[in-house]
Amino acid sequence: MSARPDIFTARRYASSIFDAVGRMTAYHRGVKRQGYSDTETDVLEYLASTGQSLGMEAEYDRAGNLWLTVPGADRSLPALVTGSHADSVPEGGNFDGLAGIIAGLVLAYSWHRRGYVPARDFRVLCLRCEENAFFGRAYVGSSGMLGLLTQDDLLLRHRTEDTTLGEAISACGFDSQLLTCGKPLIDISKIAAFIELHIEQGPVLDQESEIRTGIVTGIRGSVLHKHIVCRGETAHGGAVDYEYRRDAFMASAVLAAEMEKHWTKWLEDGEDLVYTTGVAFTGENAAYSAVPGEFTFSADIRSLSAETRDRFHELLLAEAERIGREHRVEFLIDQPVYMVPTPTTDDVRRRLLQAAERANVPVRELPSGAGHDAAVIASAGIPTGMIFVANQNGSHNPFEDMQMPDFLRGCAVLAQTIEDWDAESV
Ligand SMILES: [Zn+2]
Repeated sequence: MSARPDIFTARRYASSIFDAVGRMTAYHRGVKRQGYSDTETDVLEYLASTGQSLGMEAEYDRAGNLWLTVPGADRSLPALVTGSHADSVPEGGNFDGLAGIIAGLVLAYSWHRRGYVPARDFRVLCLRCEENAFFGRAYVGSSGMLGLLTQDDLLLRHRTEDTTLGEAISACGFDSQLLTCGKPLIDISKIAAFIELHIEQGPVLDQESEIRTGIVTGIRGSVLHKHIVCRGETAHGGAVDYEYRRDAFMASAVLAAEMEKHWTKWLEDGEDLVYTTGVAFTGENAAYSAVPGEFTFSADIRSLSAETRDRFHELLLAEAERIGREHRVEFLIDQPVYMVPTPTTDDVRRRLLQAAERANVPVRELPSGAGHDAAVIASAGIPTGMIFVANQNGSHNPFEDMQMPDFLRGCAVLAQTIEDWDAESV
């Protein structure tokens, strides 16, 4: 298949940037690029000089995100913006986030070689601190530039060090208080659209032999209970027969099994839904030979549809009530944390699908289960789309991998989308 040979010749260029940033941020078996750290600043400065050597303009916004710009023929037109986050989780992979930034540089590189001048400014946004791994707050850079951080966010403490998120932002030279002002600190009217390329972080595209590029339909919303506590009664595991037990673990397991049955049924009915218990543990007095009197677990429900998410949530509460009664235990349910689902913009999605066809890149539409800066940016009213690239071994781990031809196919879709949009502007 010949998808955009001009983009595919940028393979070595792209690899050299991935390798350079990977080397700068190597940590055990993976990489570590903490948001609002010196390491992240170093990465942004390296990316700035890389862009400048292609003739791009470099500037930082009030939240410290880096904007690299290929000046367009008509600079009064709102810009087309791509990009992603520069940070990573501790001992994470090199492609999560960075791929979306290097995709923008690949376009600038191939245009530079071709002598192509975009009709309007093309900007690559290198965002800070998307991951919540260090301070417990995700999308800090994108939320900050939109003035959407809160005082509580700034007071969040680092997971291991004696510092807060606000202090980390200030230490990088930015006014953290300004980022809580409640209004955008960037000029939103100067952005025509934001398109984020990102590795999929799931297995769907990598299982395909032909269709290895995704156009994202939307970013799933969630309802999360961090701690549901099942209370029963601790008892001797040998001496107490079935009918006398109030086994908190067994009741929780029955609840999990019931929810799995409902979940698979809902999938058959065509609903978009995922359900996860990622954390689970018995109480402090747990022992091999004791019937557990307490069991704590998390429940994370996600869907593209807020209605589906909320109905499944109600079902969870109802089943907890019923199973609790039947097993003579009580499920104590904590306050849920909600994230609204964010659909990508119809017009941007349509353009991405058309461009993929023109660029000869087979694509499929799919939802994003993971959250992304694109959702924050879309919620500010900016037309938004996402391109997914197949990757291996998941993400947020040092074994995360991505094949360069898959990356370049995603870049080809991005390039075609921008150029087609440009052609309409002149
Ligand atoms: Zn990411």
